[in-house]
Amino acid sequence: SLGQNVIVIVPGANLLLNFEDLKRASDVICKAKVVVCQLEINPAVSLEALKMAHASGVKTLFNPAPALADLDPQFYTHSDIFCCNETEAEILTGIPVGNLEDAGKVGHMLLERGCKLVVVTLGAEGCMMISVEEPIPKHVPAGKVRAVDTTGAGDSFVGALAFYLAYYPKLPMEEMIRKSNCIASVSVQASGTQSSYPYRKDLPQDLF
Ligand code: ADP
Repeated sequence: SLGQNVIVIVPGANLLLNFEDLKRASDVICKAKVVVCQLEINPAVSLEALKMAHASGVKTLFNPAPALADLDPQFYTHSDIFCCNETEAEILTGIPVGNLEDAGKVGHMLLERGCKLVVVTLGAEGCMMISVEEPIPKHVPAGKVRAVDTTGAGDSFVGALAFYLAYYPKLPMEEMIRKSNCIASVSVQASGTQSSYPYRKDLPQDLF
């Protein structure tokens, strides 16, 4: 139906990225403000990048996409922020997520596995956030928009969140998530994936 997506993954060159490549990039990884990892490269390589960053005190943002039921538990302990969508949340925990309450249950479970902050994206509903410091699920709603193509919304959200972590590290997390919702909600109003991502100049300037 309108605004729902079906995804086909063709990994291509992604699976060629290896430990040797990481070693060569270690200077960049260890001096970054934030490192984002996900599972479109070899998971073991992704985990190593996450560990390298985490060991250097770099903020780590992990997005378990595409989801793996048997995710290495070290992904949790090395993630400062663990950000998943409803489908990924269900694959990881066995809990189907249809509302905020379910998302809260998932959040608790993932905190127990060792991440510091969990964000579950909820499509048009925005997100649920929960953290070790504030272990009560909090709803961060997205604005009402007319969605034409939600493909890439999750990546738009994660990319925006990485931007705020890097450039506005002092913003309260809820505010970063609210702004990231806003950017992702712009992306669902245009078709395509990359082609639906807005340029900074075209976004409301109060986001910056
Ligand atoms: P994924 O693309 O991984 O399935 P979601 O569907 O949860 O992820 O969407 C990610 C984010 O994109 C949401 O948290 C929200 O900010 C935004 N978003 C997605 N769909 C809509 C929508 N219909 N209206 C407004 N924002 C949306």
